[in-house]
Amino acid sequence: MAFIQALTIGVDIGGTKVAAGVVDPDGNVLERLRRDTPSTSPQATEDTIADVVAELRSRHEVTAVGIGAAGWIDVTGTSVLFSPHLAWRHEPLRDAVRRRVRLPVVIENDANAAAWAEWRFGAGQGEDHLVCVTLGTGIGGAVIIDGVMLRGKYGVAGEFGHMTIVPGGHRCECGNRGCWEQYASGNALVREARELAASGSPVAQNLLDRVGGDPGRITGPAVTEAAKDGDRLAVELLEEVGRWLGVGLANIAAALDPGTFVVGGGVSDAGELLLKPAREAFRRTLTGRGFRPEARILRAALGNEAGLVGAADLARENLRLFRRRRRRKRASERLRARVDQLAEL
Ligand SMILES: [Zn+2]
Repeated sequence: MAFIQALTIGVDIGGTKVAAGVVDPDGNVLERLRRDTPSTSPQATEDTIADVVAELRSRHEVTAVGIGAAGWIDVTGTSVLFSPHLAWRHEPLRDAVRRRVRLPVVIENDANAAAWAEWRFGAGQGEDHLVCVTLGTGIGGAVIIDGVMLRGKYGVAGEFGHMTIVPGGHRCECGNRGCWEQYASGNALVREARELAASGSPVAQNLLDRVGGDPGRITGPAVTEAAKDGDRLAVELLEEVGRWLGVGLANIAAALDPGTFVVGGGVSDAGELLLKPAREAFRRTLTGRGFRPEARILRAALGNEAGLVGAADLARENLRLFRRRRRRKRASERLRARVDQLAEL
């Protein structure tokens, strides 16, 4: 079983940063590396992946590589169909990386990878009906039922960020209007904060002072920090995002009835400032409220390392499944040979 106990590498490819790490079977990260994501070509990103894997392998014995990427991965787990922030269009990433690193490689959507880590080692441990949402630039989503990732027929299940929450609402990059991520993501928080600050309203003065008077410099972490310091406006902005979060989660509960929601991503750093209003809105919006058990809404436990930890663990899981299939195949071959032998007698 040493094979399974061994270390794997997780690589998390975001729009701006590539984060890689060596991960042990308990989800501990033994060494980390970070690089900028090349903005040029898919090949340049593959070069970066091959580089970080080579560097980590020079110091650790690893058996497989898992890659979490901000994009849609086809259901066979070989290609990135589309990535909004990277140059990948039907890119056969898995085999391209496998040829270069000469190790088994799995690729996974970044939100799925993060959810897997939360289910294995974080806030979702022990939950057999888990939904994770990641609030960052947009909203990533993932569903894990009885330890199996829900992928859908074509591999792109869990794109909750693009459920229509406000018909005719804010325009979304996906081409539609009123998508959930236009109301409950980090980008939504920043848009609202900047808009209010730019309006010259005195209620935004404190927040504006904190960023040197320039509304364009307001970021999600700046709003969260101000809210933690008790700034009334920042608290309100997070409450609003939290309410939209709760409404969206109630919609997901209507469809999937999970036992636990785990909320991750940068905005979740606000903790209860976000989750308390989310739970209240969830309770008010939930279908059949008062007559059904309610899902728990928890903050993710693994922070921004969840993606790389999950990708590394999925690579290990893939090896485990591969070995099990191979064992079964050999056992059935042996059985068939025995039956043939008996038939000849
Ligand atoms: Zn959308």
